[in-house]
Amino acid sequence: MSTSKSPREVLGWIRPEIRELQAYHVPPAAGLVKLDAMENPYTWPPQMQSAWLERLSQVSVNRYPDAGSSELIKQLQHTLAIPADAGVILGNGSDELIQVLAMAVAQTGRAIVAPDPTFVMYRMIATYTGMSYRAVPLRQDFSLDIGQMLAAIEETQPALVFLSYPNNPTGNLFDRADMEKIIKASPGLVVVDEAYHAFAGDSFLQAVGDFDNLLVMRTLSKIGLAGLRLGLLCGPPLLIDELDKIRLPYNIGVLTQVTTLFALQHYDSLLAQTREICEQRQEMLAALKVVPGVTAYDSAANFILFRVQSGHANQVFNGLKERGILIKNMHANGGLMQDCLRVTVGKADENQAFLAALGQVL
Ligand SMILES: *Cc1c(COP(=O)(O)O)cnc(C)c1O
Repeated sequence: MSTSKSPREVLGWIRPEIRELQAYHVPPAAGLVKLDAMENPYTWPPQMQSAWLERLSQVSVNRYPDAGSSELIKQLQHTLAIPADAGVILGNGSDELIQVLAMAVAQTGRAIVAPDPTFVMYRMIATYTGMSYRAVPLRQDFSLDIGQMLAAIEETQPALVFLSYPNNPTGNLFDRADMEKIIKASPGLVVVDEAYHAFAGDSFLQAVGDFDNLLVMRTLSKIGLAGLRLGLLCGPPLLIDELDKIRLPYNIGVLTQVTTLFALQHYDSLLAQTREICEQRQEMLAALKVVPGVTAYDSAANFILFRVQSGHANQVFNGLKERGILIKNMHANGGLMQDCLRVTVGKADENQAFLAALGQVL
């Protein structure tokens, strides 16, 4: 039972770059109006709920799931109109697919390039896999600095480029022609992350196949299935086949497969909710734009980024929380996110509660 090692010495085996990381922080939200995580606020109609439970009751949890999720992939190809000649790989959330992508290309000295600010997991996963990460600042109006992007690509010859379309946390769609320039100039894989596609009205999915290095990633999280964890990546079959070797064989559980199939068969209900969220977004944006001291930015996603007076972001965030509203404070990220906060579009009454509380706090 005796050991010559101290806990500190054992910890020494954890790579230094991992020990320096801050774990992804999910704040407790119990009792709060939750407008921090881009969730769909709506549940399913009672009839749909009971039909779903009926379906679940027939599942054999004693058996492993279909390792290739073949029926689910077929349904996704149909419902999402994925090009027939594209390969598809599923992940336990698109976060897992980002990890699969990085693991497939990671090698000492290899780089990931992405604009900044953008989705934080790109940088986190670059660190997990020992890759270097080049963040290229967006312009003041959140557009791509195409000159700087192309220069970073030329210089680092990245194995992977991530473009969030629309971008989280800024909410805008980048210029399509700029995106195509990046895809053409990139020596490695370019992933267009369309997590917010349902709210955006534009997509690169039909362009898969036009470029040998283009992959398009989607998730069902933002359209109402965040608790389920299902993401998908579409791209040239030769590439997808290689990525599939890294995917753990049973990464999509049987409950997820059955539930997603069911949800896709009721896709109209999800789309109706999405349309409602888009309407709410426009109302909320119009309301925010007339609040003195607030600059609200147009959004092609289910959240709105807004800026408050210099030095006031923390006070606004805390004041909202005291009044029962949880949003996301982006201020600590610095750079373009100084004085910025991000609010998810919720139900009409939640958005009203947010606007009322904001009025009090300012
Ligand atoms: C939310 C989000 C994801 C993660 O989605 P999951 O499928 O829930 O893992 C990916 N990319 C962007 C840009 C996001 O905002």
